[in-house]
Amino acid sequence: MKFNTKTIHGGQEHDKAYGAVMPPIYQTSTYAQSTPGGHKGYEYSRSQNPTRHALEKALASIENGNYGLAFGSGLAAIDAVIKLLNPGDEVISTNDLYGGSYRLFTKIFERFGIVFHFVGMENANRIENYVNSNTKLIWVETPTNPMMNIIDIKSVAGIAKKYDVLLAVDNTFATPYLQQPLDLGADIVMHSATKYLGGHSDVVMGTLIVKDKELADRLYFVQNASGAVCGPQDSFLVLRGIKTLHIRMQRHCENGRAVAEYLKAHPKIENVCWPGFESHPNHEIAKTQMKDFGGMVSFTTKGNNYKEAIKIVENLKIFTLAESLGGVESLAGHPASMTHASIPKEKREQTGIVDSLIRLSVGIEDMEDLIADLEQAIG
Ligand SMILES: *Cc1c(COP(=O)(O)O)cnc(C)c1O
Repeated sequence: MKFNTKTIHGGQEHDKAYGAVMPPIYQTSTYAQSTPGGHKGYEYSRSQNPTRHALEKALASIENGNYGLAFGSGLAAIDAVIKLLNPGDEVISTNDLYGGSYRLFTKIFERFGIVFHFVGMENANRIENYVNSNTKLIWVETPTNPMMNIIDIKSVAGIAKKYDVLLAVDNTFATPYLQQPLDLGADIVMHSATKYLGGHSDVVMGTLIVKDKELADRLYFVQNASGAVCGPQDSFLVLRGIKTLHIRMQRHCENGRAVAEYLKAHPKIENVCWPGFESHPNHEIAKTQMKDFGGMVSFTTKGNNYKEAIKIVENLKIFTLAESLGGVESLAGHPASMTHASIPKEKREQTGIVDSLIRLSVGIEDMEDLIADLEQAIG
């Protein structure tokens, strides 16, 4: 089955009871047993729920994995991965990372004795400098948020294999429509399904997808033991979202390209970060591992003018100033004061998140309206 067909049918079957084409929302916490242990595979909804299960099978299919797991948020999914580790274990992570992931690693898991190294991975070879016998996990985000750096997943996977270390890839920005990390050698794919997979800004959810049975069992143990599962209603919404992922992503990419090119030509704009530009330092890698370049574009104002940047985000009318990304509607964000405020200013600026940086999640509205909105806001 090819990708577009998979989003609609992959891992999915019609309801056995009445043939419902979409799985029912099994809004139940528990399941009747005929005799102790005599159940139909479902005992308690933290452990298993049929609607969540339907979603998890679809997730496995679109990421070319064998097992999917759905959690109450993207961070809950990341939390489950780090809980595979023990005190003293070390993690090598991308330095230009989603702020919430950085906060989870440094403010929660460092207290439990896990050691994190934050490394610029645009040149994958740099990772080897940080590998030692305690290294258990490499955590990669690509494209990175919000600088749109690209990391070569295949090269990092080679290093992970060489040292027998797990590789997890946060695939939230790319989605499996653009990039399939398991096929490139990653062990775990993670998503904030809140973003493109859900696609309609109406649900908070996280997911993990793996190929290996033993790894899936260990993650399932954490999912059940820690209990950060998502509810059946949310599972239904994300399953519905996935069915249009391919056509939404196609339009996100088209509009993203138009917006990036418009901004690049604008005299009041300084830098535009978008991996589709030939001048992007890892454009060639982006071209090999991604099918297209996505709908996320970041930019700075001329002379890194903070006031100018604030004026732009306040003036936008179709782009909504809001946290989050990946929905059908266009959003604008100011990372330094919003998504990345939890990263200290010096650390933030080292990775390029300066005070005039604006991040756009380009939606699927008419391109002409989006450009006109930017035109009036930038002035
Ligand atoms: C939003 C996001 C997360 C966190 O997911 P939540 O669903 O908000 O918990 C993790 N990684 C990336 C790249 C994100 O954009």
